[in-house]
Amino acid sequence: MKNIEALKETLQTPKKVAIVTHRNPDGDAIGSALALFHYLSRRGHDATVIFPSRYPLLFDYLPGTDYIVIDDDHPDNAKKVCEEAEIIFCLDFNSLARIDRIGEVIAAQKTPKVMIDHHLNPDDFADYTYSDPTASSTCEMLYKFISEMMDERDLVDKIIGECLYTGILTDTGSFSYSTSPALYRTVADIYESGIDGTFIQNKIFNGQNEKQIRLLGFSLTEAMRLYNNYNTGIIVLTLHDHRRFRIKRGDTEGIVNYILKMKHMRMAVLMCEREGCVKLSLRSKGAFSVQEIAQKYFDGGGHRNASGGVSHDTIGNTVKKFREIFETYKEQLTAEPDY
Ligand code: 5GP
Ligand code: MN
Repeated sequence: MKNIEALKETLQTPKKVAIVTHRNPDGDAIGSALALFHYLSRRGHDATVIFPSRYPLLFDYLPGTDYIVIDDDHPDNAKKVCEEAEIIFCLDFNSLARIDRIGEVIAAQKTPKVMIDHHLNPDDFADYTYSDPTASSTCEMLYKFISEMMDERDLVDKIIGECLYTGILTDTGSFSYSTSPALYRTVADIYESGIDGTFIQNKIFNGQNEKQIRLLGFSLTEAMRLYNNYNTGIIVLTLHDHRRFRIKRGDTEGIVNYILKMKHMRMAVLMCEREGCVKLSLRSKGAFSVQEIAQKYFDGGGHRNASGGVSHDTIGNTVKKFREIFETYKEQLTAEPDY
């Protein structure tokens, strides 16, 4: 990060701080926002976490969730926090367009902004940018931010450790991807804070309800189509399916990954029909980049192997769009596996 000394200087005296993360926050977004909240609070700052939308309740075990302001539910409050803030931290996203309404509020302000994020192609909107697309997670970066850049390793206690470990665990799929020697060293350090990794693992991965498991069954038996010639599988959940299974935010989390459990599958797609649009989750194995596809065709982005986007067309036409994608990427999709 350039100007790190100036940021350190700014944080020397108590400040009002807003910590903002992306819509539909995942474990990394929630974990990094709360870790920073606890760190800044310990240093005497008056910090508030803002989420554009609600978070999956399974993350309720994380300390600090009670104080989060949800913009969808309390827009006036969220706006006030951003307007009164003397510094705004933007975590786990790299473009204000990704946080809709609250992004417009933030863009309109001269308040210094700090971005800490690991997605590809960051926008240049922050005064302090710490971007590392090679990092596994924003939580991994936040550990570095606190322990090395701020030189305050001692402040990483069990509470902050739980938040950071949550984000690393979810964004690496339990250490399945984006791992590195540096990541394992960071995790070893976080473990020293006294966290219980198995407790967190159980909270995240073994806390589903019956409805979610039945939805998974339906998705794989009824809603999945395989395009074996292109090593791709697509799961389509229509508005009708959403009503039938009473699908709520977070219920579809992880379903798309099942497609990649098949050996030959290189790309996996989950389409969730909404009123007026279709939300896409894309996953891949190896060098094949779904980030490129999300960006080029679906106004989205993310990481090479995990991206998301949106289609403003019908669900039928969105599926048809993949015919074009298959032809364009046929060579890469059918190449010898590199994973
Ligand atoms: P998911 O499929 O779990 O919703 O998202 C996977 C990854 O893609 C996440 O890292 C997320 O940040 C990114 N992503 C999801 N939706 C969008 C989107 O609409 N735009 C952009 N730029 N990234 C997205
Ligand atoms: Mn992340």
